[in-house]
Amino acid sequence: MTNQIPRTMGQQFGRRSWAEPWKIKMVEPLSMIDRAGREKALAEAGYNTFLLHSADVYIDLLTDSGTNAMSDRQWAGMMLGDEAYAGSRNFYNLEQTIQTYYGYQHIVPTHQGRGAEHLLSRSTIKPGQWVGGNMYFTTTRLHQELAGATFVDVIIDEAHDPSNLHPFKGNIDLNKVEALIQRVGAEQVAYVSLAATVNMAGGQPVSMANVQALRQLCDRYGIKIYLDATRLAENALFIQEREEGYADLTIAQIVRQFCSYTDGGWISGKKDSLVNIGGWVAVNDWTLFEELRNQVVIFEGLHTYGGMAGRDMEAMAIGIVESMQDDYMRSRIGQVRYLGELLTDWEVPIVQPVGGHAIFLDAKRFYPHLPQDRFPAQTLAAELYLDSGIRSMERGIVSAGRNAQTGDHYYPKLELTRLTIPRRVYTQAHMDVTAEAVKAVYDAREQARGLQMTYEPRYLRFFQAHFKPL
Ligand SMILES: *Cc1c(COP(=O)(O)O)cnc(C)c1O
Repeated sequence: MTNQIPRTMGQQFGRRSWAEPWKIKMVEPLSMIDRAGREKALAEAGYNTFLLHSADVYIDLLTDSGTNAMSDRQWAGMMLGDEAYAGSRNFYNLEQTIQTYYGYQHIVPTHQGRGAEHLLSRSTIKPGQWVGGNMYFTTTRLHQELAGATFVDVIIDEAHDPSNLHPFKGNIDLNKVEALIQRVGAEQVAYVSLAATVNMAGGQPVSMANVQALRQLCDRYGIKIYLDATRLAENALFIQEREEGYADLTIAQIVRQFCSYTDGGWISGKKDSLVNIGGWVAVNDWTLFEELRNQVVIFEGLHTYGGMAGRDMEAMAIGIVESMQDDYMRSRIGQVRYLGELLTDWEVPIVQPVGGHAIFLDAKRFYPHLPQDRFPAQTLAAELYLDSGIRSMERGIVSAGRNAQTGDHYYPKLELTRLTIPRRVYTQAHMDVTAEAVKAVYDAREQARGLQMTYEPRYLRFFQAHFKPL
């Protein structure tokens, strides 16, 4: 393991070593509305980029979720959709692909990731239990809490420091897991919720050594590990690059090995798997599988479609295979790094090292004059849209929500604005335009005043909250 994070692969090898392993066959026109139009659109959206109309957005970096461009192979697969209510052949193809690439035995399809989280949480958590996880994810933690668990963050401290260069900032701190077990008792820990990569920490990876050590620890206490494998293929590239002994393994081999240390996992297919909708949960234990398969018919659909059309299952099966091709993954992460390097060269504060799916602007350092309850990251997302029509999103105090007991805001250490890169959608020139826009907003940073929240929904407030400028 090395603490030296290579910049581009190109610099590492002395020449450019990646380009997209595809060419463009179909395009979707983009246009930008003028400044007055953007001001009106943002005011109507309550200064929340989630509430903008997509037609008013120029470059859309809100999320990498469901925004993927599918390949010609996947579109061809859509035509092979077997829309039978029960036993669609696309389900069996998807099931086999998941068994091959992730190694889990029993698969339950769901309409997207949170459907899987819902089923798994209901089936594995008894009210009053605890779940330890490597930093929370919004929907994951909410489903665990709704099932009656208390969530405890057990990620390493380095993850909360946006300039710490630890190569695996997604790792679990085993001492924190051990402390939780000592405090509440092993039988009260429903499971360890492991995510790779860690979205909220900046798309930061987990090392193979960490999941191996976690497995040993959990085995000593009889505790299960369930893996949020939503971006595990991206995580695998970091293991291949940074962890000793993995340089000669393929992404697919690394993914399969990683999953082997866990008892089951789930996915939002809208990320790694290169589709626009879909998800699944998969486990090795037959009894738990029976429970999940029973729950899925209540909340999602029959256990051979789980809320997806046959054609969507076919597209995801093909997308899983494409997502684990090494040249694809190098270009995927290479593009994210390219944007990160431009911003770093211009001394814009971002989370380092650059993670898998996004660049995270460090709003606390961007706007040091704004206290956290003036929503600096939300402000930055609003300013970036006003400047350039580029849509980003808040990952800070608004996303963190409130403590259910005290009603106070959670004050997360990280106050970030996320520029999320959709897969196979934008070109390098779009990355240049984005970097220039961020620089312009940075140069005007002293004028930012912050926001006040004027409407707050009860759950996952970042999606629908309204603000007004101060
Ligand atoms: C997106 C996401 C989810 C939830 O999946 P949806 O498909 O949006 O419901 C869960 N975990 C992680 C890490 C995610 O990024």
